[in-house]
Amino acid sequence: MQQWIARDKAVNWHPYSQMKTSNHIPIVRGEGSYIFDGNGKGYLDMICSWWVTLHGHAHPYIATKVFEQLNTLEQVIFAGFTHEPAVVLSERLLALLPANQEKVFYTDNGSTAVEVALKMCIQQSYQRGNRKSKIVAFRNGYHGDTFGAMSVSARGQWTSPFADMLFDVLFIDAPTPENLQASIAVLRDHADEIACFIYEPLVQGAGGMLIHRAEDLSVLMRACRQLGIPMIQDEVFVGFGRTGTLFAADQLTEMPDIMCFSKGLTGGTMPMGITTCTEAIYQSFYDDDKRKALFHGHSFTASPIACAASLASLDLLLLPETRASIKRIVDSQAQFARKLQDYPKAKHVRQLGTILAFDWAVEDGNGYFSDIQQRLSMFFMERGVLLRPLGNVVYILPPYCATTEQLQETYEVVIEALKRDRL
Ligand SMILES: *Cc1c(COP(=O)(O)O)cnc(C)c1O
Repeated sequence: MQQWIARDKAVNWHPYSQMKTSNHIPIVRGEGSYIFDGNGKGYLDMICSWWVTLHGHAHPYIATKVFEQLNTLEQVIFAGFTHEPAVVLSERLLALLPANQEKVFYTDNGSTAVEVALKMCIQQSYQRGNRKSKIVAFRNGYHGDTFGAMSVSARGQWTSPFADMLFDVLFIDAPTPENLQASIAVLRDHADEIACFIYEPLVQGAGGMLIHRAEDLSVLMRACRQLGIPMIQDEVFVGFGRTGTLFAADQLTEMPDIMCFSKGLTGGTMPMGITTCTEAIYQSFYDDDKRKALFHGHSFTASPIACAASLASLDLLLLPETRASIKRIVDSQAQFARKLQDYPKAKHVRQLGTILAFDWAVEDGNGYFSDIQQRLSMFFMERGVLLRPLGNVVYILPPYCATTEQLQETYEVVIEALKRDRL
């Protein structure tokens, strides 16, 4: 262990980490809900390794399908060429999405899926000659770390060094019955200048697992539809079962124009991003004029092995056993959410589908707030559970293979922490 920690420190720079003060544990193996460190100690991965894992680590079925694809066709340029895994994946995915989604554009992560969505809307407006340049987004949103995605995300300490380089965005609050009319008024006032509206449906993940109601979002979407504002629904986090339905879209009465996917898309085995769109958006680029093509592409666009992993993950996701397992996890999370009401330190307990979150009560002004995240993480890790609070927001996001016993073990560790006077 120590050897790998030292060698890592000598050469690697980790994401979202102050390298002077952070630690990085060498992990050698994963299996089901567990990851194992260099000493053989297992940790229940209850955050799905940054929200990507769906069916557990090192799933043998996905491994087999990826291995087969690696031995058949590992990569081919996707401009001028195509391949079966990309065709079949697009066909199967579109069949599961809202009926108006007709075309699939491939990239390699969530941020680039968002960049493509934004570029589709902005270039479409440019080609129609109306040059709409305003983008609407929710406060507390998160859409990624590239410049466009950063621009439409909540501004904070992470974005402040780049503040001058980010484009203008009109921020509105995530919908509540009280603020809906005010938000619709903002949309109406600026409708002529708005290129698109981008939002995380139902759950704002990185912003602190904030949940809004499907009814309220549907009202806002209906207003966008009437005002002719294209909607980008970012399902990078919530897609593939997290909210209890296959997609958040399944709980909404209106359909978006564009959708973004990544994270769970490959079952969490490989990086890939997808942006889907309506026929109308696709048609505004469809022309004899080459300059009207969508100007975007990545070296690994539609990676055959990532497509194969996605197809395998989809096979597993659609199994009746997996659907039943998701339902079991949803029920278990709901039950634990009720139990948490007995603990005053657990504030704003909230749950949607397989996602459960609460705010850890912190007294202001004693410096405790700043390190509560680290204290809690360490407390949970010492007890063999990987939970990584977002600031003081504790959340549990189990993989769909999590057993009732594994969930129970997680809940007990959380209760143990809540019962402590100090961590
Ligand atoms: C994580 C996330 C992204 C960015 O995805 P990356 O693959 O990390 O670039 C975009 N949107 C949402 C809602 C996310 O949760």
